[in-house]
Amino acid sequence: LSETDCTEVLQEIELYLDGELSHERTVRLVDHLGHCSPCQDRAEFHQKLRSIVRAKCQAETPAHLAERIRSAIRSKLPPGPSARA
Ligand SMILES: [Zn+2]
Repeated sequence: LSETDCTEVLQEIELYLDGELSHERTVRLVDHLGHCSPCQDRAEFHQKLRSIVRAKCQAETPAHLAERIRSAIRSKLPPGPSARA
């Protein structure tokens, strides 16, 4: 297997931030970021961009819609030990 190259890493950063990258790929990506500062900068940039977008979305989501989303998420979650508390 060849070493992960920067183009590949850039394509996978989005998946990585979504938590949708497989474990094997995540290990390779993190390893690459560890010794490639341009990619590290880009990953940080993407992460910041994401948190800004998320904050903006939350601020602009009407309360009733946010509640509907929350209950939809809740109904999909399996009942855990904390649900009883
Ligand atoms: Zn790189």
